[in-house]
Amino acid sequence: HINDIYGHIAGDEPRQVVAQRFSSRLREGDIISRLGGDEFAVVLEHLSRPEDAGRLAEEMIAALGAEYRLSSGAMIHIGSSAGIVLFPDHGEDSSELLQHADAALYKAKAEGRGIYHYYTDELTALARQRIEFETRLRRAIVNQEFEVYYQPQVHIATGRIVGAEALIRWNCPERGRVSPVEFIPIAEETGLIGEIGEWVLNETCRQGKIWLDQGHRLTLAVNLSAHQVRHQNIPLMVENALKKSGYPADRLELELTESALMQREEETVEMLHALRAHGIRLAIDDFGTGYSSLSYLKRFPIDVLKIDKSFVDDIPFENDDMAIVTAIIAMGQALGFQVLAEGTEREEQIAFLKEKGCTMYQGYFKSPPVPAEAFEKLL
Ligand code: C2E
Ligand code: MG
Ligand code: MG
Repeated sequence: HINDIYGHIAGDEPRQVVAQRFSSRLREGDIISRLGGDEFAVVLEHLSRPEDAGRLAEEMIAALGAEYRLSSGAMIHIGSSAGIVLFPDHGEDSSELLQHADAALYKAKAEGRGIYHYYTDELTALARQRIEFETRLRRAIVNQEFEVYYQPQVHIATGRIVGAEALIRWNCPERGRVSPVEFIPIAEETGLIGEIGEWVLNETCRQGKIWLDQGHRLTLAVNLSAHQVRHQNIPLMVENALKKSGYPADRLELELTESALMQREEETVEMLHALRAHGIRLAIDDFGTGYSSLSYLKRFPIDVLKIDKSFVDDIPFENDDMAIVTAIIAMGQALGFQVLAEGTEREEQIAFLKEKGCTMYQGYFKSPPVPAEAFEKLL
């Protein structure tokens, strides 16, 4: 079209623009080649997930689609579609892959311009769902669709609520309440957990200060994910949250899983000691389900072991689980930790935990996680 209307010289310009826009989206080592007139092939290596190809295709289609002014002054618009194949799933050699990429492209064009399609319909659907979910999650941060719920932690000997775990909830306008089990893993994979986690921390400290001013002496626990440990400056983030809210460091607890602790062990040990020096408490979440290398128990400055719900569930019916719980409590006591039983739902479990000397429990027996106002009523 451009060649016909504006001449061949003008036609070279959009090709240069396309080349620029493609390169701006690609990483070092990605390959781009021009197959023919207006057809290009992009080869991406080491994708962590199949839907990453769809995301890049979407970005490229958007980048290419931005309006462009020719040096003659005319505005042009470049539309594009993409067909995606995965190696080795969709072909064993280049000719088979290209052939199937063509078929995928054909499907994309049949659906309308500016669309990508994988070789199989299932993958297309999966990738589009996944990318849409991520877009919603990003928007949820901007639109503040998150809320913190609080689940009481009960001191077994006295029956008093001594603290709470902060658990995030997402009220999505389209999907309703989305469980953290569903969106936290995706937030971790995409790195969005950094922002989300920081928001939870700030919100919890803000709320904690209000309760403290009302005279409630509570320890509030916030979950940290492995991704945060790897990529965030946690001591700085915590310091800022405490400063902003006026919430005292020794009323804040951070929960880490065993697997989060085991990565980059040296740095993590150092970081946790720095936090501890400020008075912040540390809990091991889901204890007994991760690497369970006991050597770290003496290297990390730990305050609380949270026995995973799966061991608590079958008390008092499953002898093995009871033996494990008994052993964790005894070990925790000997090492000077507090021990908390997660997911405690029934009276018999509490009786058992009490007899074994467990410090605290958290579970539906007292209350599920509830919004701040409801938690205040529990207090
Ligand atoms: P978690 O940290 O181990 O939290 C405990 C989970 O067990 C919570 O699920 C809680 O509602 C549930 N639970 C507590 N007591 C009982 C019980 O008696 N019975 C049963 N069936 N369940 C009980 P929830 O709120 O769905 O959170 C799931 C997981 O999502 C959490 O596991 C945590 O790993 C993650 N998560 C939640 N909020 C955050 C957050 O702000 N940041 C990060 N990084 N992860 C979070
Ligand atoms: Mg937790
Ligand atoms: Mg847990």
